[in-house]
Amino acid sequence: MLTVNAIAAPSATEPLVRTTIERRDLGPRDILIEISYAGICHSDIHTVRGEWGEVPYPLTVGHEIVGHVREAGAAVTRHAIGDRVGVGCMVDSCRECDNCKAGYEQYCLTGNVGTYASVDRDGTVTQGGYSTHVVVDEDFVLRVPESIPHQAAAPLLCAGITTYSPLAHWKAGPGKRVAVVGMGGLGHMGVKLAVAMGAEVTVLSQTLSKKDDGLAFGAKHYYATSDPATFETLRNTFDLIINTVSAPIDMKAYLSLLALDGTLVSVGAPPEPLPVGVFTLFSNRRSFAGSSIGGIAETQEMLDFCAEHGIAPEVEVIGADEVNEAYERVMKSDVRYRFVIDVDSLR
Ligand code: NAP
Ligand code: ZN
Ligand code: ZN
Repeated sequence: MLTVNAIAAPSATEPLVRTTIERRDLGPRDILIEISYAGICHSDIHTVRGEWGEVPYPLTVGHEIVGHVREAGAAVTRHAIGDRVGVGCMVDSCRECDNCKAGYEQYCLTGNVGTYASVDRDGTVTQGGYSTHVVVDEDFVLRVPESIPHQAAAPLLCAGITTYSPLAHWKAGPGKRVAVVGMGGLGHMGVKLAVAMGAEVTVLSQTLSKKDDGLAFGAKHYYATSDPATFETLRNTFDLIINTVSAPIDMKAYLSLLALDGTLVSVGAPPEPLPVGVFTLFSNRRSFAGSSIGGIAETQEMLDFCAEHGIAPEVEVIGADEVNEAYERVMKSDVRYRFVIDVDSLR
């Protein structure tokens, strides 16, 4: 066992604190990663505050991890010592079910092993990336291209893949009108990725305060959802809407913005239900869907796509002692556009 420095939530209501956690000894297919940066996803906040259900406290969260391979088990073939690598929201899955075999490990029929708060193969509870090192099976470790700036790369492992996967699945591309609701960590990546795929992108944000940024990321249009006229102007407009909002939204209002055969995909995961009246779906034969992160091969595809298109998240790098303050700022939508912990501050 390796004892490493980390940040953990002691309970749903207390601030996160510095602590130490254990990492398992390397198995033959395991990799020891020295973490450089760990992104702060809103899912970390939902989780540590107990909004999604029971939590095994104390818990170290973090599933946007980038670092370097420091040790590799004897049977490791995919990564070498010194490689720059990443880990996202999963560290294992059954590998045998139909979904795993098809490359959809995120939809493993027995449940994938999450990077934190999951029961691992050895029966221990997984602990996430707000820590100096992590041990992960090589099949769940991604190659992070060197051309992506190191300190900006971590958020691709969740915010990047979670928006890339539905954009690719619902074929965002030339001739498609795509709206992104909420321009936070996921949302700003959704804008950049949809633009790179060739879609005409509209941002739907609560206010116009981030309009200049949205247009700089490549969006063609930017509307404030606090203005009721927005919903009149944009009725029956979009082929695809990606909802990244962490709180409930008025489903009827947003579904009304879909054109014929349009789909609203929620990746935002508020603990409360998002009620849908079927009559809003009848008009224009609309669909309402959900999407969860992406598979391992697809995550690699997304990383390579970002390298090829010169896309990277916008980050604010913080030290380990600024995490609680960062959580408060995320809650106020005061993030430009992802907080990333410099893990050197934990060593
Ligand atoms: P975030 O950085 O906090 O961004 C959420 C954005 O939603 C905010 O920046 C804000 O954008 C908007 N928003 C927040 N509260 C709102 C409200 N009450 N009404 C309307 N808009 C509001 O969070 P994130 O890290 O991107 O995560 C977003 C959601 O996705 C979370 O629920 C998270 O758990 C979930 N998630 C899901 C998956 C998945 O696999 N499906 C993966 C990762 C995260 P504006 O300021 O532009 O309005
Ligand atoms: Zn996440
Ligand atoms: Zn499976």
